[in-house]
Amino acid sequence: MPSANGELLNYVNGQWQRSSAATIPVHNPASNAVIATVALSPAAEVDEAVRLAQAAFLGWRATPVVDRVQPLFRLKMLLEENLDAIARIITEECGKTYAESVGEMRRGIENVETACGMPSLIQGTNNEDIASGIDEHMFRQPLGVVAAITPFNFPGMIPFWFLPYAVATGNCFILKPSEKVPMTSEKIFQLLDQAGFPPGVLQLVNGGAETVNALLDHPMVRAISFVGSTPVAKYVYQRATANGKRAQCQGGAKNPVVIMPDADMETTTRIMGDSAFGCAGQRCLAASVAITVGGAKNPFTEAMADVASSRTVGYGLDSGVQMGPVITTESKARIESLIEKGAAEGAQVLVDGRQKKVSGYEDGNWVFPTILNDVNPGGEIARTEIFGPVLSLMHAKDIDEAIALVNNRAFGNMACLFTRDGAVARKFRYEADAGNVGINIGVAAPMAFFPFSGWNESFFGDLHAQSRHGVEFYTQTKVVVERWPLEWSRQF
Ligand code: NAD
Repeated sequence: MPSANGELLNYVNGQWQRSSAATIPVHNPASNAVIATVALSPAAEVDEAVRLAQAAFLGWRATPVVDRVQPLFRLKMLLEENLDAIARIITEECGKTYAESVGEMRRGIENVETACGMPSLIQGTNNEDIASGIDEHMFRQPLGVVAAITPFNFPGMIPFWFLPYAVATGNCFILKPSEKVPMTSEKIFQLLDQAGFPPGVLQLVNGGAETVNALLDHPMVRAISFVGSTPVAKYVYQRATANGKRAQCQGGAKNPVVIMPDADMETTTRIMGDSAFGCAGQRCLAASVAITVGGAKNPFTEAMADVASSRTVGYGLDSGVQMGPVITTESKARIESLIEKGAAEGAQVLVDGRQKKVSGYEDGNWVFPTILNDVNPGGEIARTEIFGPVLSLMHAKDIDEAIALVNNRAFGNMACLFTRDGAVARKFRYEADAGNVGINIGVAAPMAFFPFSGWNESFFGDLHAQSRHGVEFYTQTKVVVERWPLEWSRQF
């Protein structure tokens, strides 16, 4: 068993290893019970993992791509067989409902499936006779050792935005999961262990900021993938690139959604309830600002208030629960203080999710669905990522004013529109300053075969996660120009 006395272990060179560092507790956010402990691995342990990955690299990159994807096919089956067990762990440590945990794993598995197509995806390009008798080829070669640093809110899915592409392209991969939710990664690495990857190709190193810094500074780490809050994303991007590494760093969000008067209100408010309050609003693609246009104001506001007040909040493994707790007591306090701030800036707290308890889970980090109405577009709440179940409402007279409000923020992760009018939809799609756009969609999450296209302060880098972007990020191109004159051949 990997865990000894509830302490989570690192996985290095095909072995489970105890860190020498001090441990911190991992909590169930619905009860705040301690469910495991995890070490904050020091730089020396990162160095060992990187060196062993580097040692595995030469053999792994020389393994034919058709063979490199075989463990991914096995992994896909192992993930399917263990879906229930993984989903339960996600709910236990992250708080989201069981259905949400299953849903996130489905998106993770989709990335494994997509990377199984690597024999086609990694193909290069070539031209015969760029000059008479001279041919030119472009090959894609792996980088070496690459690492990913992931956030708490999708412990099962986000590692798979990177891992399958990194290893299928021939790299060795190190995961540093969020120290708030390390149990899911332990389970995933148990399955990776069974999938048949050679030792050293995949390493798990638990830890916090010191562990991250050691990866950012290690000369053998060639590329860093990061997902988390914007200040840390910016920091990681700057430190990684200053050290000569490739970096793709996904940051925070504040996603606006415009509701036109012609939108189907019943469908729109149902979808918006799931977008704003699903995963307790702890989703980088959560709707956080709803902007009604003209006559949409009153029907949408009334219906959303009903949707928010009627959502069943509780422990995600209990039946009938539609929304779980937020991740920590600090997070709960921060969300509540931002609700207060919104009110101080002039918003009406239309539905107030503060000071609520769930029977049987009195010590959990509960914030119930909350709606702030008439949020001041010039205030802090209009721009700050709350990362909790709080929907801000603003009102605009027409689509131009609404799009101006959409584009009046530093983030650019997602923007959505609800309408029946194709011309308005086309205008919105064209003008919205965001990289993921939804039309009559509440969570515009790209499938694995599309890039996850955050913009502006939501992304630092060039190539995004998933799809062909992942293939390009984890490979370097080699261009070969060659001349083979017939008269030099000994056969003729
Ligand atoms: P976070 O930034 O606190 O932590 C993310 C990772 O960075 C963790 O592994 C953590 O250990 C590490 N880290 C934290 N502080 C660090 C520091 N000072 N130096 C080095 N490493 C550090 O984020 P979180 O609270 O775990 O996740 C929530 C955030 O992630 C939200 O802002 C959310 O919008 C964002 N997010 C973005 C996307 C996206 O696709 N853009 C997806 C999911 C989550």
